[in-house]
Amino acid sequence: MPKSTLYSPIQMLSGLGPRKSEILQKELGVRTFFDLLQKFPFRYIDKTIIQQISDLGNSEDYVQIIGRVVSKNLVKGKFKKRLVVKIEDKTGRLELVWFQGVAWVEKSIVIGQAYLFYGKINGFKGKLNITHPDFELATDKKRLKGALDPIYSSTEKLNANGLGQKQRKKMIQEIFRLVPPSQFVENIGLEYRQKLSIISKYESLRLIHFPNHVDEKEAAEKRLKFEELFFLQLKILFQKGLRKGKVKGIVFPEIGEKFHHYYKNKIPFELTRAQKRVIKEIRQDMGSGFQLNRLLQGDVGSGKTMVAILTMLIAIDNGYQCCLMAPTEILARQHFDSIQESMKGTGIHVAFLSGSIKGKKRQETLSLLKEGLIHILIGTHALIEKWVEFKNFGLAIIDEQHRFGVAQRAKLWQKSKDRIPHILVMTATPIPRTMALTVYGDLDTSVIDELPPGRKPIKTIHQYENKRIELYKFIDSEIKKGRQAYIVYPLIEESSTLDLQNLQDGYDRLLHVFPRPDFQISVVHGRMKAADKAAEMERFVKGETHIMVATTVIEVGVNVPNASVMVIENAERFGLSQLHQLRGRVGRGADKAYCILMTSFKVSKEGKERLSTMVRTNDGFEIAEVDLKLRGPGDIEGTQQSGILELKLANIVKDQSLLMYSRTFATNILRDDPSLEKEQNKPFLDYLKTMKSFQKDWGRIS
Ligand code: ADP
Ligand code: MG
Repeated sequence: MPKSTLYSPIQMLSGLGPRKSEILQKELGVRTFFDLLQKFPFRYIDKTIIQQISDLGNSEDYVQIIGRVVSKNLVKGKFKKRLVVKIEDKTGRLELVWFQGVAWVEKSIVIGQAYLFYGKINGFKGKLNITHPDFELATDKKRLKGALDPIYSSTEKLNANGLGQKQRKKMIQEIFRLVPPSQFVENIGLEYRQKLSIISKYESLRLIHFPNHVDEKEAAEKRLKFEELFFLQLKILFQKGLRKGKVKGIVFPEIGEKFHHYYKNKIPFELTRAQKRVIKEIRQDMGSGFQLNRLLQGDVGSGKTMVAILTMLIAIDNGYQCCLMAPTEILARQHFDSIQESMKGTGIHVAFLSGSIKGKKRQETLSLLKEGLIHILIGTHALIEKWVEFKNFGLAIIDEQHRFGVAQRAKLWQKSKDRIPHILVMTATPIPRTMALTVYGDLDTSVIDELPPGRKPIKTIHQYENKRIELYKFIDSEIKKGRQAYIVYPLIEESSTLDLQNLQDGYDRLLHVFPRPDFQISVVHGRMKAADKAAEMERFVKGETHIMVATTVIEVGVNVPNASVMVIENAERFGLSQLHQLRGRVGRGADKAYCILMTSFKVSKEGKERLSTMVRTNDGFEIAEVDLKLRGPGDIEGTQQSGILELKLANIVKDQSLLMYSRTFATNILRDDPSLEKEQNKPFLDYLKTMKSFQKDWGRIS
């Protein structure tokens, strides 16, 4: 027989013919022994615990009972016979049922004898029973000794094809019999393992499947979780190190005349301390010869735009062009209008480009850009298309990054001729610390943790549908004070007709409550043409309309300081970060602002937690932490490429302290040995090279 390795195909396991192997592959995606080993149990049954019949709840859980057989009956069913066995212990009676192997069980079970039964309890017509329990003589004490029984996630199909729990366990046991321990390549050397007090790779894999005790299970989990988090961090930090070492950024040594002129004459306010600090951090990167590759986090309204402008001026002072990208046309246009306005008289040429700019206008913009006559290009992701050519591209600023993927960021790299342009990514969605270290771990981060002075916190209220009349009265009173209001409807998909209908109904009702000509109402939704959207937006910005009815297209960046009320309809349907973004649209003037979350009476438990979080706090970081806790890392945007979805056991929320610890550990190793050349670190590099997400970058950089 050929020798087995970890990578032997599963067909080599006994009892697995081509058909069963294929089912396993289809259902679980496993081809090799190793794949199967990587499917860890999702829980364990403690076989040291024996329940009493009177304590059994209808919990669908696995239980172990010692009971004496009272009766056994073959019952004729519609198609087949079944065996019904009644057992009892001191506390009560229970029915056990077999549909298969009836004859054999009937023969084996003796009335009056006590057995240990093990199986999944279920309720059938109000009565509890166990179908197909395992059983053995209760005198057999061997089984009762401490053992945790692994339970794997399975499927109907697997169970129906004789590939259920019992067989899964057998297959894994067989793998451990066939494959010698030396086959399990250790990726954390002994010395490190001792330092970390973690067990070996082989031991951890064995014990994660077959722990004899909770301690063993925990030791296995600790090792495997640490391994996952550590290599994720090591990968991120190693790549970052490589980039810093090998990728030369364009050097912007000068803080020149344009920057100083703007700083002195064009900024109508004093920069906050946080803005000043962040600009300093950016200047340091750009002046250093390394590439600026930085994530700028700042809550809504913290003044990121000004930081963006000053950063662009540094690039321009050094003779380079730059671009500012926004995720929506509306937002891009707003940036364009305000930045063009503020650049008047500075000799800086600002241009706009998006998918809706066509024909001659587009040609003209493109050729001016190529000649280097445009200094700042503002627009949507049309900017990163191949046909957009710069003469001397030095800096890209991306606003509201969570809609731009890593791939799009990479496209920017190709726009500059010799050296990689600087990239500043700005986000108003605060990123929880654990996410910043993983999903955005390749970027440096700066945080604007201070709002401009004079901002009043927004008062947030959760209101039910029956308070609608009061709501309208309140909006009316704010409009009478000269303020404006947003009313936002959910839009899960841009094409959802139902949502549009909601908005239409709401709009009709509002027209009724706030009739023309005393009141003017704007509408903006995703189905409108970009130009119409912009025109409607414009009317609201200029104060020509009192109420803006919109879907979430207004979510990001829109700036109307006079607006004091944000009403969010069906607020239970929005995610936390969206709610927070929307709320940030108000409270930008010095006046008191309100956010009113309207819901029906039917709100899920999670929905309630989102709403109460919004009512409780204005702190974006706190909200982001709750959001991550509620949704879990898998659902957060940007996680797809990050490798955190490859985590099998570790969870960046629940295992936060282990994440921090592994980060520190990885940092220390790389500080001492940046290219992982030392003998004791060789296993690390070898292992990194087996990681898919590492290979691509490794190829590109080295
Ligand atoms: P965001 O960080 O959400 O992009 P913006 O850059 O749009 O915030 O700034 C929000 C508002 O705050 C703008 O009207 C801007 O002019 C103003 N602002 C920015 N920085 C300051 C400051 N230091 N002092 C006063 N107002 C400021
Ligand atoms: Mg902004």
